[in-house]
Amino acid sequence: MSDSVLYDLPGEFVSSMAEASGYCDTQAVLPKGDHYIAFCTCGRWDTTVPTRAEGLELARAHTAETERG
Ligand SMILES: [Zn+2]
Repeated sequence: MSDSVLYDLPGEFVSSMAEASGYCDTQAVLPKGDHYIAFCTCGRWDTTVPTRAEGLELARAHTAETERG
């Protein structure tokens, strides 16, 4: 009877997506407790943020950095 099960998903989700991709194909921001986790399918970037908007902004910055090489 724990609703934390839902929030255990992201970690596995990230690693399965990273294995499938390894590239910056997709970024996601998922709610976790009172904050959000932002991550990328490349598996080299993840962070916690207070708001979804901030996560999306950081995700954009991450892909911009990566594309530049
Ligand atoms: Zn990435």
